Amino acid sequence: MNLGWWWRLFAGALAGFLFFHGFAATETAPNYSFMYDATSASTLSYYDYIIVGGGTAGCMSDNPMNAVFIPSPLPVEVSLIQVVGITHFGSYIEAASGENFAGGASSSPAVEYMNNLDETTFRGGFILEKVMGPISTGHLELRTRNPNDNPSVTFNYFKDPQDLQRCVQGIQTIEKIIESKAFFRFRYEFLSWPILLNMTANAPLNLLPKHYNPSMPLEVFCKDTVMTIWHYHGGCQVGKVVDLDYKVLGVDALRVIDGSTFNDSPGTNPQATVMMLGRYMGVKILSERLAN
Ligand SMILES: Cc1cc2nc3c(=O)[nH]c(=O)nc-3n(C[C@H](O)[C@H](O)[C@H](O)COP(=O)(O)OP(=O)(O)OC[C@H]3O[C@@H](n4cnc5c(N)ncnc54)[C@H](O)[C@@H]3O)c2cc1C
Repeated sequence: MNLGWWWRLFAGALAGFLFFHGFAATETAPNYSFMYDATSASTLSYYDYIIVGGGTAGCMSDNPMNAVFIPSPLPVEVSLIQVVGITHFGSYIEAASGENFAGGASSSPAVEYMNNLDETTFRGGFILEKVMGPISTGHLELRTRNPNDNPSVTFNYFKDPQDLQRCVQGIQTIEKIIESKAFFRFRYEFLSWPILLNMTANAPLNLLPKHYNPSMPLEVFCKDTVMTIWHYHGGCQVGKVVDLDYKVLGVDALRVIDGSTFNDSPGTNPQATVMMLGRYMGVKILSERLAN
């Protein structure tokens, strides 16, 4: 087995993982102001440089995710995320494995590329940990007045040391899992834990500069390999930007009813809760209107 084979395997699995989960990238903007009080906004021009979710107006968050790739000598089940470990220290442990776990029937170039890869490329999978309810918060900033332009988002992953500690404990839990007897058949003996960490750390998981090597603490691994799991939330929290009826404070006839109102991203995946909230509020608004 040569090194080229490993890299092909790793690159294929990584392409799939990133295709589904995307890259974590943050940007900061040079000039901004905070909206400290949602009821005290003054003139429209003020909003050109406002940070939504900054100050006391909200708490934009994204759950940092860190993963370790484990090549397997055996074919593994195709799985996105089926088994979830809920820890006492505030992280979810999840797994994604097998061919096409990034998949779907899309005809995008990424899926075509993956379909053309050798089957062995997909032997293995990722075990990941997601920090629940991160304490670190960030902000969203408008870049221009054009509503079609993407805003700039800063999440400040691991700014709070407790988030970093929870990541370290999550990675240590992943180590325990793959060193367990049950996992034995699904890993190559010569790929030790430090090698696995190093392989992951050297992959292009994000756009951040790389520092990690096996002599360094796991804190460095967490910071270097952080990704998004796409569960950002909290830019419009209840009591800070919207009231209990999801009406924007200080604005007539405008409600926000979506994931941005969550204090925490619920469970492993938030979409069902977002849909439930939308339906609940839709029914409530309709029945209030009919009653009047
Ligand atoms: C790649 C990816 C994978 C995910 N996988 C899962 C998963 O497997 N399970 C799960 O539970 N969750 C998953 N999530 C998270 C889930 O999709 C989100 O939490 C959820 O969609 C949030 O719902 P929302 O209504 O808050 O926002 P969105 O679903 O983002 O809806 C916002 C809507 O607003 C529209 N919009 C934006 N700007 C404007 C504007 N100026 N004017 C008018 N309309 C506008 C957008 O077009 C969009 O339709 C994933 C997210 C991503 C990105």
